[in-house]
Amino acid sequence: LSDKLQNVFKNLRSKGRLTEADVKASLKEVKMALLEADVNFKVVKQFINSVTERAVGQDVMNSLTPGQMVIKIVNEEMVALMGSETTEIKLNNSNELTVIMMAGLQGAGKTTTSAKIAGKLKAKGRKPLLVACDVYRPAAIKQLQVNGEKQGVPVFSMGDHQNPVDIAKAAIEHAKNNDLNVVILDTAGRLHVDETMMEELANIQKAIKVDQTIFVVDAMTGQDAVNVAKSFNEQIELDGVILTKMDGDTRGGAALSIRAVTGKPILYVGMGEKLSDLEQFYPDRMASRILGMGDILTLIDKAQSQIDEDKARELNQKIKKATFGYDDLLESLNQVKNMGGIADMLSMLPGVGSQLKNVEVDDSQFSRIEAIILSMTPQERANPDLINPSRKKRIAQGAGVDLSEVNKLAKMLEQMKKMMKQFGGSLPKAGKRGKFK
Ligand code: GDP
Ligand code: MG
Repeated sequence: LSDKLQNVFKNLRSKGRLTEADVKASLKEVKMALLEADVNFKVVKQFINSVTERAVGQDVMNSLTPGQMVIKIVNEEMVALMGSETTEIKLNNSNELTVIMMAGLQGAGKTTTSAKIAGKLKAKGRKPLLVACDVYRPAAIKQLQVNGEKQGVPVFSMGDHQNPVDIAKAAIEHAKNNDLNVVILDTAGRLHVDETMMEELANIQKAIKVDQTIFVVDAMTGQDAVNVAKSFNEQIELDGVILTKMDGDTRGGAALSIRAVTGKPILYVGMGEKLSDLEQFYPDRMASRILGMGDILTLIDKAQSQIDEDKARELNQKIKKATFGYDDLLESLNQVKNMGGIADMLSMLPGVGSQLKNVEVDDSQFSRIEAIILSMTPQERANPDLINPSRKKRIAQGAGVDLSEVNKLAKMLEQMKKMMKQFGGSLPKAGKRGKFK
């Protein structure tokens, strides 16, 4: 989807002033791109209509940069479609118990996401309890126990012979007696929407006070995800949605449609199998990502939570001046290592998504890269231009790698510099929102 839209907008950008016909033609392409991305047909139609209404007319025609105006409108409408604001899971005060129930089909990611949320809540100072209400698959209890242990969060289970309602009731008692203040019910899914499952969930909702019912759905199922969300929302009252597997390649279809169809906010997005891979959902950032502008803000957030601010600023200066050397590369690789991998990081840079195929950067290369850089003299690291063919040979020998690996690294440094310049060039947009000024 991003590639397609990028092309559409590239055309718009190069045109300068737009005619009414141009706007219409571009929106037709936007429509095709959205449909291809598996966005719900009704949602697309509605979307195109509202954009057309705003784009075709005085505003655009009188604007100095009509192309930008259309991008702005498409972007704003996408944000509106996805709910405009970031929404958190609503929790009661710490001295009051909050009960969260996870709902969704089998394999959607309920168990994994329960543990991810528990970790987030724990980090915020809450005392969560994970509860195994999936009594159909014995392995499910074990899975929750393993994940709970990884997060350092207690898991409550009663084996697989109990009724989920009884388990939930007992878990609440257990939480109260043990000074725990958030109960997360990991329920059982089915492969398809079915009556027994819905009844089971409805029974829990009837028997205990569920504060938040969170619907978990696999984003990679695209259009299906929207239909499933619709039936869950009709049969049990949902409070929010979590889209999992957004690290897969469908980067928009489901997010764009689900909010519109259910009217329920997307709370988080799952970005991988690791328990740290759960990110806040930002409609504006998601819109930018879909529009192929890269998710700069998420990237900056991610970086800021790990890199000490001063270092980041220094790095930013270097990027702007393009004096980025091997020492910096080594340092940032180490930081990136703690941030979920380099491919993940790079894919968030504007326009890099599509280029990433051509850059071979994978986490397992870290140690070899490290060896190569450590075989360089400090001067060579600071000033990569110094490295002529004979120095390259020496470095390769010192690191015990093939000469081609040193060349590959040089190319990677160049490519990173290039990307980072692009990143630097996009910073004013982020600055406008008060970051990285
Ligand atoms: P459940 O049946 O709804 O409880 O689903 P699980 O939590 O067991 O997840 C099913 C599979 O999806 C597991 O292999 C998870 O590791 C995987 N999974 C869950 N969330 C994500 C995600 O955000 N990204 C990726 N790549 N995999 C995920
Ligand atoms: Mg499960």
